[in-house]
Amino acid sequence: RMRLAVLTSGGDSAGMNAAVRAVVKAGIVKGWETYVVREGYEGLVRGNSVKISQHSPTKSVTTVPKSVQHNALVHNLRFGDGELLRSGEGDAAERSGGKNLKGRYIIRVGWDDVRGWMGEGGTLIGTARSAAFRTPEGRLTAAHNLIKEGIDALCVCGGDGSLTGADVFRAEWPSLVDQLRTKGEITEAQATAYAHLKIVGLVGSIDNDMCMTDMTIGAPTALQRICEAIDNINSTASSHSRAFVVEVMGRHCGWLALVAGVSAGADFIFIPERPPLGDPWEDEMCDAIGLHRKEGKRKTIVIVAEGAHDAALKPIKAEYIKTVLTERLGLDTRVTQLGHVQRGGRPCAWDRILPTLQGVEAIKALMESTPETPSYMIGINQNKVIRVSLQEAVKMTKAVTTAIEARDWDKAMSLRDPEFAE
Ligand code: ADP
Repeated sequence: RMRLAVLTSGGDSAGMNAAVRAVVKAGIVKGWETYVVREGYEGLVRGNSVKISQHSPTKSVTTVPKSVQHNALVHNLRFGDGELLRSGEGDAAERSGGKNLKGRYIIRVGWDDVRGWMGEGGTLIGTARSAAFRTPEGRLTAAHNLIKEGIDALCVCGGDGSLTGADVFRAEWPSLVDQLRTKGEITEAQATAYAHLKIVGLVGSIDNDMCMTDMTIGAPTALQRICEAIDNINSTASSHSRAFVVEVMGRHCGWLALVAGVSAGADFIFIPERPPLGDPWEDEMCDAIGLHRKEGKRKTIVIVAEGAHDAALKPIKAEYIKTVLTERLGLDTRVTQLGHVQRGGRPCAWDRILPTLQGVEAIKALMESTPETPSYMIGINQNKVIRVSLQEAVKMTKAVTTAIEARDWDKAMSLRDPEFAE
């Protein structure tokens, strides 16, 4: 029987729980044993230092027949074959990080363990930035831990960093298995049985910064939070006839700033992929905003991505924009940095639909994975869930940053959106 583990990694995003839920449930339906890895790659490196027999005496239920799955849905039956439900008394969040899970990072989960996860914000199984996984030694330990638990398929939900890590892990896997075999850490039989690691990526990122997919898990909710925040700002802005400079997240990607700007009817937007090209840009901004004011607009909204810069790559900060608007246009200007408010809260409908459909596709991709097939990233293109090469998507995403650094704005824009070039 195949054993599948799912983890969330890098920056948290709304919809990650829905992704874990979908992967676990779709895996169970296919007859797999399902696991979650707590705390991202860090959990993979730490593994399980406490044995399950010490941890919990409850027997593990194995297969869940189709009829039972159906009944469970219809009659709300409980049949937990996992460890999360057994590990504590509290709610899902408490259970997933429960005190009884100390020393255990790779956790068996069943149908009931992920019940109700669809609408929960953040990631209940935890996420981390793992320095250890960036090292070959860390990845060797991670491979050993997976093999020890008998896991041969891995689903990673995270941003471009996490998916780069997944790509590195997959490329290195044969050599890792070989090293473990040579060191006598695993048997010859294990080396043969685990010669191929099936790996798939789901993109969880609030920034919508991954190439080769139209939308990342968490971006729609973040956009929703920004819109709500700007609605609130709008009331006071028009009452007092003020200007607001709103800083939103996005270090290398201006998607949130751009579409929030469209949603909010912003007067001016700063994104990293294409800075204002007016020379100086301050004139360009003041001309636009001055015109809007002349036309009778009572409020001004400027949106700036945190990674925004001018054409010479000098950072453009919200406070500086405020100074320009105050001094040149005489506007009563305030700065609002939305910060982590954007990340949080319940996923919107789209951040439940997207991870659910993509989670099911991830399972299909793993089922069909062979040493010859590429590792896939699950994306969405023109409303269809698609598979793309993980390696290519990672490469193309990196190319955007390179294009920005080379100040090749057309290239940066067309890598983000191929239609831009046309
Ligand atoms: P995000 O996935 O949100 O972009 P990070 O860039 O912090 O977040 O990446 C998350 C984790 O993925 C890192 O802490 C690290 O453990 C792993 N990772 C990122 N890049 C690599 C890499 N080149 N090699 C191995 N692991 C990596």
